Amino acid sequence: RLVTFEGGEGVGKSTQVERLARTLRAAGREVVATREPGGTERAEAIRAALLSGAAKPYGPFAEALLFSAARIDHLDRLIRPALERGAVVLCDRFSDSTRAYQGAAGGLDAGTIAALERVTLGGLSPDLTLILDLPPETGLARARARAADTGGEGAEADRFEAEALAFHARLREAFLAIAAAEPARCAVIDAGLPPDAVEAAVREAVADRLPA
Ligand code: C5P
Repeated sequence: RLVTFEGGEGVGKSTQVERLARTLRAAGREVVATREPGGTERAEAIRAALLSGAAKPYGPFAEALLFSAARIDHLDRLIRPALERGAVVLCDRFSDSTRAYQGAAGGLDAGTIAALERVTLGGLSPDLTLILDLPPETGLARARARAADTGGEGAEADRFEAEALAFHARLREAFLAIAAAEPARCAVIDAGLPPDAVEAAVREAVADRLPA
């Protein structure tokens, strides 16, 4: 079973991946918890190339190709073998992030995104996608607080802030549109609740949609 966690910045995906992994392991399931971009040594190297530095070094098409290359390595070396031996794979971001970031928010056309998804996934689809939903103001504030904690840039110009807000609003709309288009695969979780309540909602969605 493949369970993916999606959403904008600062929605708490990694916390919830850890918590669900703990719950499923306690119930005796083999769990592989991983993330994108990354998850394997080579894919993490691509992540570093994409995310290092202040400026975005690539345009959306080159970005989408690099994310896809990372995803292919991740699928071949980690995800498919784990699924084949019956493990539950929990992935922090997956193909919906490409649709939302490079597609809806980055401006890459839907046909290109769909074609890339087809060749990269070869028909594989998550069994369940948990979309952690938060107003962009809240997510950005959380992401900024985290960046400040870890020594990142704190004070940003007003113009940059406004652009960031518009970008994150587009991201949120994109994730909600994916959920509306594929309701059998996706569950929208209110990520504005306290972490324990989000965890409970995640557990409920998994119990409903992915019976053991
Ligand atoms: O999972 P996390 O939020 O740390 O993601 C790392 C970053 O990678 C995101 O903040 C996002 O800006 C970027 N990303 C992207 N396109 C994707 C996936 C991630 O731009 N398809």
